[in-house]
Order: sequence, then structure tokens, then C-alpha cells
Amino acid sequence: MTVRRPVRALLLLLLLPLWLGGAGAGRVVSATDQTANGARTLAEPYPVAGVFARFWAAHGGLARFGVALSPAVADPAADGLIVQWFERARFELHPEAPTPYLVQLTLFGSAALGARPERGAPPATCADDCRLFTETAHTLRGRFARYWSAGGGLSVFGFPLTEEIREVSATDGREYLVQWFERARFEYHPEYGGTAHEILLGHLGREALAGRPDVAGLPQVAVPDGPLPASRPRTIVLDPGHDRTTGGASGIEYRDTLRTALAIESRLVARGYVVRLTRPGDDAVLMNDPALLPVDPGSHDAGYLEGYAHASKILSLDPDLAVSIHYNAAPTGPGGGSLTFYCDLGGPQNARLARLIQAEISVALHERGYTPPYSRAEEDGAIGKTYGHLATLGNVNDPSGQAIGNRMSGLPIVLTEALFETNPTERALIADDATIARLAEGYVRAIESYFADAP
Ligand SMILES: [Zn+2]
Repeated sequence: MTVRRPVRALLLLLLLPLWLGGAGAGRVVSATDQTANGARTLAEPYPVAGVFARFWAAHGGLARFGVALSPAVADPAADGLIVQWFERARFELHPEAPTPYLVQLTLFGSAALGARPERGAPPATCADDCRLFTETAHTLRGRFARYWSAGGGLSVFGFPLTEEIREVSATDGREYLVQWFERARFEYHPEYGGTAHEILLGHLGREALAGRPDVAGLPQVAVPDGPLPASRPRTIVLDPGHDRTTGGASGIEYRDTLRTALAIESRLVARGYVVRLTRPGDDAVLMNDPALLPVDPGSHDAGYLEGYAHASKILSLDPDLAVSIHYNAAPTGPGGGSLTFYCDLGGPQNARLARLIQAEISVALHERGYTPPYSRAEEDGAIGKTYGHLATLGNVNDPSGQAIGNRMSGLPIVLTEALFETNPTERALIADDATIARLAEGYVRAIESYFADAP
């Protein structure tokens, strides 16, 4: 299978924003950049064929690996191994390996890092939102951890070889926060914050190819097709709000949030998703686990601590998308209405997910013959609610309640309040399993829509 034409179409679609972006991404391609391999132009990228093309497409394509800088060749420096250079990696064909390892990235991270002292530096302190790899004695956390997991994890990038460090890019001379892995260097680009280019792989393929002028003279070889799976299943984390010790709205919300999560879970699993619940039953109390709480629990109110603990649990389950499920309560009177909260501080994807979910909640309630007084997606920080919700949505507050950061940057997450427990009409709907079933189908439609249009 050749993908010459799709690749070319992708290039035309995707290169423009990178070109305009400057910095590391701006050097991705220029008409004369590939002269090491002869005078090639944008209109003539090297084809990516066979199982290399499947791997390229399944693991992030142009945005992750860049364009091909060589054809597929049999590398005399690696006993004739079939390889292809890209800007940010080199693919190797391992026909003898099991399917997940049929295509491997060359260990360019390990080679380029060499014996630099950062490799042997002790690991940073690892608390929540962090994983220590004893194999290399280095940690992985936060946005780099999510990028690593979403991109294929160990089988694609290998183990971390350093902590997060600051270093000057050889590509553009600017300083970036980076982390080295066996097969890649992750670079954090805040200038692309909230986009698919916020984390970029370093130009390890280009840098290695610069030392291999012989490659330009090697003949192109065919790359066989193979059984590489198209992509891994996505992990959805569902967070049933509150627990038996806090109760939530009217002291009963925690049971209804769990009923709803279980109804969504079974439908997502039937569609091939991996689903994790922050609390699978009513026995679990997340706030009893000190590892899930902030370092200064005494500085925060109980609502913030509960939201923070749920957020920690969500992050520990390594989601591709997360939904925190709640029902509402009015301090006085019955209240009534339907809301989905999101937080812009975590990225623009949250508003998109919130609108999709709230639209489907509205459809589900309509199917049950109910039109709520209002149905809205709302930015949570903008309405001044600095506790509870915002902590669940990843915000980290100082003791005065002012939001100072977000732990979930880039992760799509929203918090729903589909109905009010304190409104008798809405409470009757919540108590009816037929409503929960319609709502669950709506959440699933929204999640499928989200991924169908994801960049
Ligand atoms: Zn709640």
C-alpha cells in the first residue's frame, strides 16, 4: 500500500500552521530543507509506504514525526535493517518482532543523550500525577506523561532517561523544557499551548541524518504491509461525584452520580473503549487517601479538597477524556436547569466537549418529555466558583481561592450537572432508570462526536 497521495494532501493541510509558527516547528519544512537527499520540494515528499505508513498514521503522523527525509532504505550501518528517516525519528522494520514492535523508533534519544550527567541525576520527588520508572530511575509526570501514554508509551518512546530539564534547542537556539527518552526527546512549546503542537518531538531524525551523508546514495527498498493495529483503544475516566461521607446534593447525589457512571460505562465498553471509574462503588472514599490530597490540605476548604482528590484520582487513571458526573442543588427553593461546566485554563478542547455533552443531555431530557428551564455549557472560572468544581477540573488554587494553574492541561474534561436533586420534577426524573439510560446514551454520543472531530 502506498500513501503517497494521502501524505501529500496531509502536508498541504497541516504544514501551513507549522510554517507560520516559527521556532522549532517553523523549521519543519522548507522547499530546500531536504537537499541532503537531492533537490526535493514540498510537492514531492518521500512516500511513506507499507507498515511504515500504518505506524505513521496511527501514532500521530506529520505532527509527531514530521515529513520523511529519506526513502525506505536497507541501512548498511545496521546490518541491512530496513529504515526510513523522518525529521523527528527514524522508523525501523522488525519483521521478526510481535505486532506491537513490528515498527520501532531508533534509539536516537539514548544515542544523542550519550553520557550527559542529566542521565545519572537522581529522580525528582514523585507524588501524585507522577510515575517513577525503576528501570532508569527517572520520573514521568504531567503533560509529558499524558503525551507519552497517548502516543503509545513504552513501546513507542521507551523509558525516560532524564528528568524534565531546560536546554537550548539546536534547531532554533531557544530554551525549552525537555525530557529525554530512549527513542525521543519531548519538547514543551508554550507558544503552541492548547494546540496539538504544545509538545513536539525534537528533530532527532534530522540531527542523526546530518551525520550520514551516505544515505542519500542508497536505493529505495519496498516496505511490506503488515498487521499493525490502526490504533489503541481510548481510555475514558468517569468520576461519580462525592461519596458516602460527603453525600453531595440532598445527601443522595453520590448514589445517583454512581448510577449514571455505571450506565455510561457499560455502553462505552460495548463500543470498545477502556473505561475507568474513580470510585467503582459506594465503599471508596477518595479523601481518605492522603496521596490524592494537595501538599497543604489545611489551607483549603472541604469542597476544594474533595474536588482535588477526585482530580488526582482521574489523572492517576491516565485518561484520554474524563467526565465528572454531578447533580445540582439550590441553596434556597427548588432550583432547576441543566449545566455542563468546563475550564478554559485546561485548554480550548474543554469548551468543545462541554457543548457536545450538554447538547446531548438536552436531547436525552427531551426524549423523557422534559424541557429544563435552561440548558447551558458554562466556563467555570468565569462564574467565580473557585472551589469544588474547579479543583475537579484540574485547577490548583492558592489558599485565598485564586486559581493559579491547571493540572490537566490538554486533557478533555468537563463536569456535568444534568438536573437538580432539589427540584421535585427533576428529582423524579433522576430516580427513574429510564432517564439515566437516555442520559448515558447521550454522554456516549457526545464522546463519540468529540473523537470523530478531534484534531
Ligand atoms: Zn456535586
